[in-house]
Amino acid sequence: MREETRKQYLKLMGIELYRPAHELHSGIVTSEEADAFVEEPVSELATDPETAVSVQDTAVQAPPIEQANTSADDDLMSYMAMDQALPESDDEEPQVAKHSSSTDELSGLDWEQLQQRIAECEKCSLCQSRTQTVFGVGNNQADVMVIGEAPGAEEDKQGKPFVGAAGKLLDNMLKAIGLDRENVFIANILKCRPPANRNPSNEEAIACEGYLLRQIDLIQPKLILSVGGISAKNLLKTEEAVGRLRQQRQQMVKRNIPVLVTYHPAYLLRKPSEKAKSWEDLKKFKQMMKDLI
Ligand code: URA
Repeated sequence: MREETRKQYLKLMGIELYRPAHELHSGIVTSEEADAFVEEPVSELATDPETAVSVQDTAVQAPPIEQANTSADDDLMSYMAMDQALPESDDEEPQVAKHSSSTDELSGLDWEQLQQRIAECEKCSLCQSRTQTVFGVGNNQADVMVIGEAPGAEEDKQGKPFVGAAGKLLDNMLKAIGLDRENVFIANILKCRPPANRNPSNEEAIACEGYLLRQIDLIQPKLILSVGGISAKNLLKTEEAVGRLRQQRQQMVKRNIPVLVTYHPAYLLRKPSEKAKSWEDLKKFKQMMKDLI
């Protein structure tokens, strides 16, 4: 990467080029690390077979997680450029064996049956205000799942997760580590939009949990990227803040799957200076993919 371009990226991210000794290892990305992040080839990350799917699509093979075909400079530039985008309206047991069934009621359902069951769900009052449920999008044989919070207004309209400005940033974050909507599965803790984009209540999260667990059991991801506090709280059954949870690899409580917690893209749109930390997280996640896939 050209020196001037690199400096521009780092400046856009609010990353300091000079670091006093006491800031070393404080989470600030060095220029060398930044270069490594964008220039490292990612083709070795995974090898699963192929195809793109939409919400409606059913069982297909996951395509390989391969080197992005745009240049790393372009990827990082579009990730950074989201600083200028307006934020969306969304504000901010014991372990069980891997892939054990979720609730009795859902454990026999296949992918299509689960989609149907979710589309008809009336387990909580959100069914009265939703336009439609948001099942999730991506590949149902993916090694990586990304789990967010709940649909917002646009997601409720379109029936797909992460379709607004936060979704664009999420896409850029994924792209920066060689992932896209064809080789991950993106789902939310809630399948319905909470009115006025308020936080999901505990009751709503509990009512919806079986659906996510069944999705996880059918997909069998090797690792999960948890974006935002609501996602982390429900996957890890903790009240700890993202800022602490992100510091080390976590484990989903109800399934034996490694989880990396990072900031929600909507939060990053409001607070672009935190992108340096999210970049650190993404590099960590990329290493986890190398180790686990
Ligand atoms: N935020 C989320 O957490 N999920 C979405 O689908 C959209 C915005």
